[in-house]
Amino acid sequence: MTKPINIAVVGYGGMGAYHADQLIPAQKQLTHVVGTYDINQAKQELAQKNGHKVYSSFSELLHDPAVEAVLIATPNDVHKELTIAALAAGKHVICEKPAAMDAAEFDEMVTAAKQHDRTLMIHQNRRWDPDFLIMKELYQKQTMGEIFQIESRVHGANGIPGDWRHLEKHGGGMLLDWGIHLLDQLLWLVKSPVKEIYTDLSYILGDEVDDGFISFLTFENGVKAIVEVGTTNYVSLPRWYAKGLNGTMKIDDWDLSGELVVSTNSNDAPAPTPIQAGVGLTKTMAPPSEEATQRLPLPKPAVNSESFYENFYHVIRDGKEPIVKNEEVRQTMTLIDNIFKSARTK
Ligand code: NAD
Repeated sequence: MTKPINIAVVGYGGMGAYHADQLIPAQKQLTHVVGTYDINQAKQELAQKNGHKVYSSFSELLHDPAVEAVLIATPNDVHKELTIAALAAGKHVICEKPAAMDAAEFDEMVTAAKQHDRTLMIHQNRRWDPDFLIMKELYQKQTMGEIFQIESRVHGANGIPGDWRHLEKHGGGMLLDWGIHLLDQLLWLVKSPVKEIYTDLSYILGDEVDDGFISFLTFENGVKAIVEVGTTNYVSLPRWYAKGLNGTMKIDDWDLSGELVVSTNSNDAPAPTPIQAGVGLTKTMAPPSEEATQRLPLPKPAVNSESFYENFYHVIRDGKEPIVKNEEVRQTMTLIDNIFKSARTK
């Protein structure tokens, strides 16, 4: 008989409500929402209206023996204090990304988890995104030869959303918001230390925090990456673009449309025919002959064996390894620290 993990949700905003109303109930046998708490009265009323038991304080929630685990979905600046308090109260914790404001804060959270012998897992959910899993499959299987350049972008035109995301003291800005997802994916994919970083943070909207950024990374294994987040892009570049020694791919969007073209390596393929380009003529930029390349379908995304919450359940009940490991989260937080430093120092 499985005994579901009773989880209390702290912060009933956009993401907290998504956890409480969708993600946690989706794993019926494994996880259960026992109640919620938000410092905002309107959010408390909304949670109640949506059928949740509402705690009147964080302390009341922590003192409830029915609560086995706590999900933290508040602004980033309070992740550390809420996580450490929950761990000290004997609760397991799932904390939303970014785990903390920086790597030093995250270290304190990990130390508290060890000290109180509780599980701490960070919700780096985009490791399950199908577009990323396609990229991962192509990288590992080398369908287009060894991949040496990866470009990972998300572009929007709506500026920085909400309230606290505009403010530095709350851990606002797009590097901590979306950058953490793209960098977590990239480090999990390339699995090599980052050797060089160059970054430009964007302040085009006049906020005190970055409204986007572009970062050029070189890994010790030679792979180069461009990571870009934009919130002022009325036309988007592809979500993924990557070059391998034998081909090129792009994934346009989360709808998984895209292209994969590989060389046939045929010695008999005719040379490309020069084309008129603008007011000039070019052979270099002409499309390769039909015989020289082959268009392949993008692979079907290989599904991760367990969902985040299934994994959380098995980590706690069966001592299984977490898919999102704290050492990996620490590497990503350190990379973010270094990206901020690279932007400052050029
Ligand atoms: P939000 O502003 O919609 O919600 C935050 C809520 O936390 C608010 O209702 C606020 O009143 C409440 N809150 C603030 N301080 C609190 C405290 N001390 N105790 C209890 N409640 C408190 O923000 P959001 O978009 O839901 O983001 C919340 C967290 O979730 C952030 O860390 C964000 O990075 C993360 N997030 C993750 C994903 C993802 O895909 N993993 C997506 C969106 C947001």
